[in-house]
Amino acid sequence: RAMSSVNIPPPECMLRPLEVPYRYLFGPGPSNVPPRILAAGARPIIGHLHTEMYEIMNDIKRGIQYAFQTNNHMTLAMSGSGHTAMECAVFNTVEPGESVLVSINGVWGERVAEIAERMGAKVHTMVKSPGGYFTTEEIEKALAKHKPVLFFLTHGESSAGLAHPVDNVGDLCLRHNCLFLVDSVASLGASPLLMDQQKIDILYTGSQKALNAPPGTAPISFNERACHKMFNRKIKPVSYLLDMTHLSNYWGNDSKSAREYHHTGPVSGFFALRESLAILAEKGLENSWRQHREVAEYLWKGIEDLGLKLFIKDKDLRLPSVTTIAIPDGYDWKELLAYMMKHHQVEMTGGLGPSIGMVIRVGLMGYNCSKFNADKALTALADALKHCPKRRG
Ligand code: PMP
Repeated sequence: RAMSSVNIPPPECMLRPLEVPYRYLFGPGPSNVPPRILAAGARPIIGHLHTEMYEIMNDIKRGIQYAFQTNNHMTLAMSGSGHTAMECAVFNTVEPGESVLVSINGVWGERVAEIAERMGAKVHTMVKSPGGYFTTEEIEKALAKHKPVLFFLTHGESSAGLAHPVDNVGDLCLRHNCLFLVDSVASLGASPLLMDQQKIDILYTGSQKALNAPPGTAPISFNERACHKMFNRKIKPVSYLLDMTHLSNYWGNDSKSAREYHHTGPVSGFFALRESLAILAEKGLENSWRQHREVAEYLWKGIEDLGLKLFIKDKDLRLPSVTTIAIPDGYDWKELLAYMMKHHQVEMTGGLGPSIGMVIRVGLMGYNCSKFNADKALTALADALKHCPKRRG
């Protein structure tokens, strides 16, 4: 008789097949994945250290260089979601005790400030309410005051629906000997961004927004200045998994002749990411930007025609990928969202962090970005406004 025996039976749920509903993912991400990308992700696995995989990773690098508009050699994809890239950027370029400046105008700055705090940086913040933006004068003043080694700005503030201007900030950072880190998770491919020309030192994005790949991989790129800082550290970064000395080798970006095992990359996720970058390359960045802008303007007009107010007043500051609607008076935003999900299979979401209770967020990204889908979103919204209880304020 065995010393021990299985006394926990197989769970009932595991004896039933997987069920996944079809949803119209019109929130801030993930967005619906087109069949071509799903099919790429469903290809048979190969080893993460096979030469064919290195080729695919090299292709991904080239695809990211195009999407980011950069010639940076140190370009790769993280094995993990957008947060992995956030942590990788901060952990590698900052050492404990160094000064970091974070602009906060929504949840993403809050997150980066916390990430930097946790690794022992001296964190300084510039704070605006969601939807606010920072002038170059304000940024320059804070750079001069806090003398940070890193300045963080969110290009596509998805919790507020703001596309933050990026021009001139890179020059300021250069002058103040500070690295310029930009989050483009929600904006890449949807809103113009030119890494090299705009002097962004570190840029990252996510796979699941306008790129339309499944969640779980995150492109990132470091320029020479960022590499100089992160490869001349006194102490090793706090994370082994996110250490760029290892990741640069895994991606064939260092001077070693062989790639060595560091961690097992998400092979299927990389297949899908490659396909999503290929679709963007075929379409062309400018066409993609134009498409997002046109569909967003159509959506914005439709929202205003319903009698609703857009949260970001200035059209030029609105993020074309994620639109924020001010919660209409008298309505419970949770009821509106639940109604659309129940009756239209349409996902929209509420705010995040400081924008909770302020906005409803509608995202039409990449594959989802069409007037047809904008109409679908508007129909669901109109129906929810008609059927959800409106209380007198
Ligand atoms: N930054 C921005 C602007 C985002 O919109 C998101 C995702 N909502 C993230 C970072 C974090 O990405 P992830 O959820 O993939 O970790």
